[in-house]
Amino acid sequence: MNAQRRFRHGDPVGPLARTPEQWKAWALTIGQRPFRGTQIFQWLHARQQLDPDGMTDVPKAVRALLKTELEQHVPTLERVHEAADGTRKLVLRLTDHSAVESVLIPMDAEDKGEDDTELEDEQDQACAQKQRVTECVSTQAGCAMGCVFCASGHPGLLRHLTPDEIIAQVLIGRALLKPSQRLSNIVLMGMGEPLHNYDATVHAIQLMNCQEGLALSSRRITISTVGLVPQIDQLGKDFQGRIGLAISLHAADDAVRTRLLPINRRYPLQMLMQALRRYPLPPRRRLTIEIALIDGVNDSEQMARSLVALLRGIPVKINLIPLNPVPHTALRPPSEQRVEAFQEVLTRSGLSCFIRRRRGDDISAACGQLAGHPTSLIRQEPSPPRS
Ligand code: SAH
Repeated sequence: MNAQRRFRHGDPVGPLARTPEQWKAWALTIGQRPFRGTQIFQWLHARQQLDPDGMTDVPKAVRALLKTELEQHVPTLERVHEAADGTRKLVLRLTDHSAVESVLIPMDAEDKGEDDTELEDEQDQACAQKQRVTECVSTQAGCAMGCVFCASGHPGLLRHLTPDEIIAQVLIGRALLKPSQRLSNIVLMGMGEPLHNYDATVHAIQLMNCQEGLALSSRRITISTVGLVPQIDQLGKDFQGRIGLAISLHAADDAVRTRLLPINRRYPLQMLMQALRRYPLPPRRRLTIEIALIDGVNDSEQMARSLVALLRGIPVKINLIPLNPVPHTALRPPSEQRVEAFQEVLTRSGLSCFIRRRRGDDISAACGQLAGHPTSLIRQEPSPPRS
């Protein structure tokens, strides 16, 4: 297979990416009844039992078959790095030996107000008691978009992840949660551009939605994109706007945006804004606009005012992310005062705007720092506590 060939719907998939229907068909091909397939889907997706030896009610011969198949397709968890703030970065080794990273981010009381699904959780007492965890998932090894401030894109695109490799991150991540935690949200904001690997990403989301499996509803899943216009339109159609959409906007004028995000040449701001206006958002939902604030580049109050004008009439909430330093650039975050002044312009105009605290930056797990590069991980590991 060509290393950069993208997964397409209808392609044969590995075991983790089989739908419940495909599992039933698989069971028939090995002389089992369809319910055996359903049973295996539930072991994998609802109970995250990825080792067939633990599937106690599945016959030994079937388990042996499964074991071989899973070994050929499923990444293994190589390391878990835990940051001082409880964020955990998972390093997964793919079967072709490349590495991808996912991040488990516990949500604190301070994160309240950033998430539209939170109120529903509070109505459900059992859920409300557990700490909500968001998992940030990767969709590509490397990335082709070349955004100047992002570590993931630095090596270019290594390859698209398969649907198995995308869903595996969620199953492995969920199995690592503490009993006091629950996986409440998925953000496709890790390494890669999810809409550039559209079919595999959508297939993995449909698996997350499955009632017999993870049962995560689409509104708990957010795709973050640099703004690939045709795929934004397609996503709107495929999920009737129910998937959360976050746009990496970063600037309100084409010159600055093109300097930061080369893709802006192909889909300049006016085209992107039209796509956002067309996105079929359900009532009371908002798009997320991400702005990585960079000292002296896009952090002026004038830029904030242009942003207000650009976003007029579009239901949005804005996340300001003071740039997380990455090794290959000299770009730096602005001072705290400048970040606050920027926020002030937006909030005064009635926009809801949050400053994102850095999560897990001591283990290189913050936005834009995921590189899947083993040496940078070793260098960045927190030093052991002194006794
Ligand atoms: N390709 C997708 C998702 C991956 S990046 C996208 O671009 O949206 C997730 C978010 O982190 C994006 O908003 C991205 O612009 C931002 N980001 C990348 N590098 C960053 C950095 N060094 N500091 C802060 N945010 C960064």
